[in-house]
Amino acid sequence: MRTIDDFTMPVEYLSPIDKFLRDASRDWANKESIPFRRGYDEDWEEHHTIEPAFKKLMGEMGFQRFFFPEEFGGLGFGHSNYAGVGGYRVCEEVSRADSAIGVAFAVLHWPLLLICKEPHVNKRLCAEFAPMFCDTTEPVFAANAMTEPQGGSDIENLDLLSGSTIQTTATLEGDEWVINGHKLWPTNSGGVSKLFGVVCTTKLGSNDPNDFAFIFVPTDLPGVTQGKPYQKAGMAADKNSDIWFENVRVPVWYRAHGPGDDFKYFKEMVAWGNLLSVAFCSGAMLNAYELLRDFCSEKTYRGRPLKENDDIAGVLADIARDIEATRIIGYQGARMLDRPDLYGDNWSDEIVTKMRSFKYFACDRAIDILDRAMNIMGPYGSDRVQDIEKHWRDVKIIQLWLGGKQLGQMEVARWFYDCETL
Ligand SMILES: Cc1cc2nc3c(=O)[nH]c(=O)nc-3n(C[C@H](O)[C@H](O)[C@H](O)COP(=O)(O)OP(=O)(O)OC[C@H]3O[C@@H](n4cnc5c(N)ncnc54)[C@H](O)[C@@H]3O)c2cc1C
Repeated sequence: MRTIDDFTMPVEYLSPIDKFLRDASRDWANKESIPFRRGYDEDWEEHHTIEPAFKKLMGEMGFQRFFFPEEFGGLGFGHSNYAGVGGYRVCEEVSRADSAIGVAFAVLHWPLLLICKEPHVNKRLCAEFAPMFCDTTEPVFAANAMTEPQGGSDIENLDLLSGSTIQTTATLEGDEWVINGHKLWPTNSGGVSKLFGVVCTTKLGSNDPNDFAFIFVPTDLPGVTQGKPYQKAGMAADKNSDIWFENVRVPVWYRAHGPGDDFKYFKEMVAWGNLLSVAFCSGAMLNAYELLRDFCSEKTYRGRPLKENDDIAGVLADIARDIEATRIIGYQGARMLDRPDLYGDNWSDEIVTKMRSFKYFACDRAIDILDRAMNIMGPYGSDRVQDIEKHWRDVKIIQLWLGGKQLGQMEVARWFYDCETL
């Protein structure tokens, strides 16, 4: 019988420890998440059933140490040339069980990428924050606080707007940054994270990249207030909420890099966020394949298994084709991030654009195949016992973040067709 491992992998450029990453994260998915995921929706606020899965994956298996250099207790992926394909593999396997755990797990690494990854390791900040993540078996989260009430897409529209719409301010007072502002929607907000990376401006309205600041803020500091998590259509394992910063003071060296470089490397974060969104989609799609294969083998129509009917087989074939294509694109994107010597810097407009195109391609395909899976399964597709409707609700949400499909389209059109106003 075919399995998800029969979908194509770029075997010539997988990480040297791919088998370990696959086996460990698949074992986690099969034992720690899939048997319990049907209860996650009701647990969106408390996370009682979700928490053990995080603890195992992040704390006990130690995957929250992924990016930190070995000298600080990390796994050292930040200075390897397979952080992309390795990270993709883990996020795909995790998302096969639950793409919300996939995103919560990936986002803990998101701000850390800025300080842990070559060629821009900030050793002082690594030394400061590594113990929080590396010296414990408890799950520890971080968040990237970027989106604001007046619009998240404009803040991510870095090429055109260069941070000019950011309303969260960072003011230098002596040897401290004083931060004021209101963020909303960050993954791992709602009281989950111990550390925020906060997108700020040092001069309101400025489109000078030097005024874009990325500043780390431990969440227990005076002046940091978090709201309650929002209840969403799905993705219960990812908590999102409001965060208010009121005269929050941090040491001046909590700024990730400084004028110009924060902006530059934040683009890299956007590239990685888009690429790993492909992994969340392909993980959900692989599980949809498994669920659909079983359903269409067992359920009969006119005395034959569903899959033996031509019209159904045609749709199943298209679904397998789309999973093949999405996964190949995802691993190719991961490889492009791993080999800047061949494909250009992770923060280049070209790479950011191409990762955006991969993301919105994957979201379109994932939404489409889950919709078709639901059609094939009929009312069983809507039955929570079948697990497919969960992925159907979750993948739609993947499409909405990072500026949604529309910002993806605008950036792709801008880059490939030299548009000037989009
Ligand atoms: C589950 C989840 C997790 C998230 N995680 C994070 C996180 O970790 N950190 C964080 O900071 N934020 C996060 N977000 C927020 C998310 O990134 C934003 O919601 C998203 O970028 C859109 O911003 P907005 O909601 O302010 O909408 P707006 O920016 O106001 O956009 C509204 C609509 O206009 C469209 N649009 C915007 N710009 C253009 C354009 N130039 N051309 C055409 N159409 C355009 C958008 O696609 C959208 O449809 C998350 C959201 C969700 C749902």
